[in-house]
Amino acid sequence: MKLNFKLFPEKSSQTAVLLIYTGGTIGMKEDPADGTLRPFDFSGILEEVPELRKFAVKIDSYTFNPLIDSSDVEPSLWQALARLIRDRYDDYDGFVVLHGTDTMAYSASALSFMLENLGKPVVFTGSQLPIGKLRTDGKENLISAVEIAAAKDSHRHPMVPEVSICFNAQLLRGNRSVKVNATGFDAFKSPNYPPLATAGISIKYNNSFIHYGYDRRKGLTVHTDLDTRVSVLKLHPGITEQAVRDILLGDGSRAVILETYGSGNAPCRPWFLSLVREAASRGKILLNVTQCMSGDVDMDLYATGRALKDAGVVCGHDITTESALGKLFYLMGGHADNEKVKALLEKNLKGEISK
Ligand code: ASP
Repeated sequence: MKLNFKLFPEKSSQTAVLLIYTGGTIGMKEDPADGTLRPFDFSGILEEVPELRKFAVKIDSYTFNPLIDSSDVEPSLWQALARLIRDRYDDYDGFVVLHGTDTMAYSASALSFMLENLGKPVVFTGSQLPIGKLRTDGKENLISAVEIAAAKDSHRHPMVPEVSICFNAQLLRGNRSVKVNATGFDAFKSPNYPPLATAGISIKYNNSFIHYGYDRRKGLTVHTDLDTRVSVLKLHPGITEQAVRDILLGDGSRAVILETYGSGNAPCRPWFLSLVREAASRGKILLNVTQCMSGDVDMDLYATGRALKDAGVVCGHDITTESALGKLFYLMGGHADNEKVKALLEKNLKGEISK
């Protein structure tokens, strides 16, 4: 990794934004040899987006090495990002993270938990088409992200002191976002939470949905201890007892996210419930997250959900799987006691659930 260049010369008291480039389509161009997309040298970004020069904002850039397709993202990238933001926190008014779209919702979710008492914008963005392509969505996404990262209110306080995703003219809370479209420009949605801002002729901030609860007297605290021993069990008709057993009782997991049907329902076949009970009795953390895009888990609604609750499964409310994963990594990294983790899973820590 390297802090490779200052895009613009510094002027005193100027708002400053750090552009952090991790990889992804936004910074890729076609390899003439075989036509595949590969990362290009980010120092060429000004040639591709000369509009960035027009901002009255000092923009520096930091490039990760190696650049990665976000399908290769591991929690080590989140740790590196969190440390970088911590180390540069006092130097910048906001941060823009350029990241592949495939796992952007996972990364933004995880960072939202890892950055405690965040008082500055951390805006993730990327694109569906490389920035060098004529019809790219990358330019607009990047320009809006920089504008939002630099935006201040009349008291010079940041407009959006949260981890967010800026995509297709919408700013979404990071830990509420999901990638919903593999090819369209409207790649992200936050189905259970309104956009934090919308970019039209001007950028409209939905202040009543933005979290301003940070304590100005305290600084940023970064949590980089993550316990990744989490598995995801997506239910489907025809799922076999062996498959459920392998995931629920496998030695590799301390927690299992159960991706259930509808409002948190699962088969009530005896073998299934007895495996859930056995996993719970072994102390595993079991979290109920719905497969549905919107709405929430209510384990009191149907007998099939109630049986999970009685077996000791924790209600995920309207959390996304992406966010549940980050929340579990963070909570388990900080707490050895599974009962403590379960209690905290039920709490709204960073606006990730409507509770
Ligand atoms: N595979 C790419 C990535 O996630 C896709 C993208 O950036 O949109 O890095």
